[in-house]
Amino acid sequence: MEMPSDVPRYVIALGSNRPGRHGRPGAELAAALGAIGGVRAASRVVTSAPIGPSIRRFANQVAMIESEERPLDLLARLKAIEAAFGRRPGQRWGSRVIDLDILLWSKGVWADRRLTVPHVAFRDRRFVLDPLRMIAPDWRDPVTGLTIRQLHYRACAVDRMPRPS
Ligand code: AMP
Repeated sequence: MEMPSDVPRYVIALGSNRPGRHGRPGAELAAALGAIGGVRAASRVVTSAPIGPSIRRFANQVAMIESEERPLDLLARLKAIEAAFGRRPGQRWGSRVIDLDILLWSKGVWADRRLTVPHVAFRDRRFVLDPLRMIAPDWRDPVTGLTIRQLHYRACAVDRMPRPS
């Protein structure tokens, strides 16, 4: 049986909608997970529809990592990984191939000019909540007091509501 761990954990959201040096978006996500390290659990990759006709589909995934890093140190490291992945050979300032956000932290909340944890928008994004429910259904959002399962249920209910025509 797996031993319980008291190392702090973070949940990271990963997204990609363009190929990079590792290949298609799914391969970029896998490579980013390797670069982040300390991965304890990762969801399946889900795809979300493009918002406009010219925008490619997104591949999204969430992962739980173990890390003793402080939130701003982790943010700086994620930004460095984003920058490294965004640069393609022969293209100094290529667009970003990978987007990395900090969703949750087992130590609770963080809020300053540079970083807000839990992530401000995660509670109503299906492309985050769907994969998040796969790996952390019982994690409790410290802001609303609701579990991920409850937040997911709520977001699904909103999606089922009839839209004004
Ligand atoms: P993005 O649009 O995802 O590249 O994020 C832009 C900025 O949002 C970053 O440079 C961060 O300083 C800030 N930010 C605030 N909260 C978060 C969070 N929870 N995870 C990642 N970035 C965040």
